[in-house]
Amino acid sequence: MKQIQIGGMLFEYQEVEKLRGDDDHRLNGHILYDERTIKVEATALNVLKLDIVWHEVIHGIAMLACADVDEKVVELLAYGITGVLRMNPQLGSEKAFEEWSKEVDDGA
Ligand SMILES: [Zn+2]
Repeated sequence: MKQIQIGGMLFEYQEVEKLRGDDDHRLNGHILYDERTIKVEATALNVLKLDIVWHEVIHGIAMLACADVDEKVVELLAYGITGVLRMNPQLGSEKAFEEWSKEVDDGA
């Protein structure tokens, strides 16, 4: 089972074909708090799946903080964070950051 941890909660990661929401409309991603599951449309392009997962993770962070975050802000943060992480993988973990920050600067 693949899991994504948000704060102290573990969510099962699932890829589902023809993912649909409660009112039967098509979705690319969905976070189900009661089931502790993050579902992503299986046929989405890989480059989009990362954005979709981050979108749902931000919903999860907001839920855990009891914050009511507007969908547009969630979208902005998801694309913003994935964009920065793609361009700066050293920001993805403490280990990667430590290695990057200790690299000898070649002055280039
Ligand atoms: Zn959303």
